[in-house]
Amino acid sequence: MIFAMKLLNVFLNFLFPTKCIVCNAEGPDLCAKCLASFEGPKPSNYDWIVSLWNYRDPNVERVMRHIKNVPNKRIAKILADNMTALLRQGFAGHGKLVIIPIPIGRARMRERGYNQSLLLARPLATITHQKPLTNILIKSKQTKKQGTAKNKQERIHNISGSFKVQHTHLIRNKTVLLVDDITTTGTTLYEARKILLESGAYDVVAITIAN
Ligand SMILES: [Zn+2]
Repeated sequence: MIFAMKLLNVFLNFLFPTKCIVCNAEGPDLCAKCLASFEGPKPSNYDWIVSLWNYRDPNVERVMRHIKNVPNKRIAKILADNMTALLRQGFAGHGKLVIIPIPIGRARMRERGYNQSLLLARPLATITHQKPLTNILIKSKQTKKQGTAKNKQERIHNISGSFKVQHTHLIRNKTVLLVDDITTTGTTLYEARKILLESGAYDVVAITIAN
């Protein structure tokens, strides 16, 4: 069955070759030329967060919009490869990481059908020979979209207490790598990191596609 699916994919790719979602060039969903042209990240508010690119770059924004609207595994794999390269530079020496995607709320899950952070975390975890852990960090409070908060205080109030942690033995004394598609102020990641540290994680670092 899996083989038949793969064969079907090969056939469909032959009929409808993939194109770069940014420049339309035939080939991978994101071409090397576009990847190399993306604007680098802004300086982060926190030294434990690294990001690949700046979302203010309209082409990066396009990629971000795409992964929120289409559960495209091929793009997720390309992005995961780029994240791995960044992690090798920045977080070498952290030893074995436990990979946790930032969860989304139930309403958004119903609306979108998938969690884009998990979409990214899956191929990233494969590269490090693991599976992302989705049963540890749980969204416990429905939060408004962060973009609708007017200022920093409101953002912190909006997100405060929005996560809970279960199965704490799986993170005790381990370094957690949080994965999210985008971070702007770092408030969501800060809140997740705080509760994971309180629950016994040794350290918590985070990676996002854009900031
Ligand atoms: Zn391109």
